[in-house]
Amino acid sequence: MIKAVFFDFVGTLLSKEHEDITHQNIIKEVLREVKAENVDPVKVWKEYEALTSERFKEFAGKPYKPIRLLEEEIMQELAKKYNFEVSPKFWEIHLKMHQKYGKLYDEALETLKTLRANGYHVGLITDSDNDYLKAQLEALGILELFDSITTSEEAGFYKPHPRIFELALEKANVKGEEAIYVGDNPLKDCVGARQVDMVSVLLDKNGNKKELWKECEFVISDLREIVIIIEELNGQ
Ligand code: CA
Repeated sequence: MIKAVFFDFVGTLLSKEHEDITHQNIIKEVLREVKAENVDPVKVWKEYEALTSERFKEFAGKPYKPIRLLEEEIMQELAKKYNFEVSPKFWEIHLKMHQKYGKLYDEALETLKTLRANGYHVGLITDSDNDYLKAQLEALGILELFDSITTSEEAGFYKPHPRIFELALEKANVKGEEAIYVGDNPLKDCVGARQVDMVSVLLDKNGNKKELWKECEFVISDLREIVIIIEELNGQ
């Protein structure tokens, strides 16, 4: 019997396309702050994305280190390479741009509301710093829609470490097999969920993660499909 549904945040509820726009605007603001008009923001952004994705892969399953520090280190690296100063307001800009440009996938709100109306515990399990997550959820107006929120900052580990999933299950007071985890990263989200017996659901909007579908029990392209999956699992 499924009693709880947990979601990953970025790329699952928060639109990946808008996240790209947010990051481009962070770079633009950072460059504008220090009057580095000669530096090409798109070029810096592409490297920033490549470096952050590499760094996050290194940290998968490892003890938590603030994402703020990881991102500041990457900005420092790029600043050195392109010869500009990192604004002391970097994190402030980071939060502000997320609040301004962050956007949910079209069907996310409807799905969250339906699940809550159907009586399920709705939670978040996310590799995030607490201050970022709170600012972003408040800006989106959805902070109140979650029964529980579990971050790597709180758990002390990054996904797919089991601790973050166990902590979320404790908060919902359910067993692994009574919960579903929906994420967009097969190796972090599906692998992490399955090791604590949660049902793993991959959101693969463009169908470009096929070679890793085997890590997940269900693959969906639209969040609303979760409602149907739960009904099937619960024999309704
Ligand atoms: Ca994600």
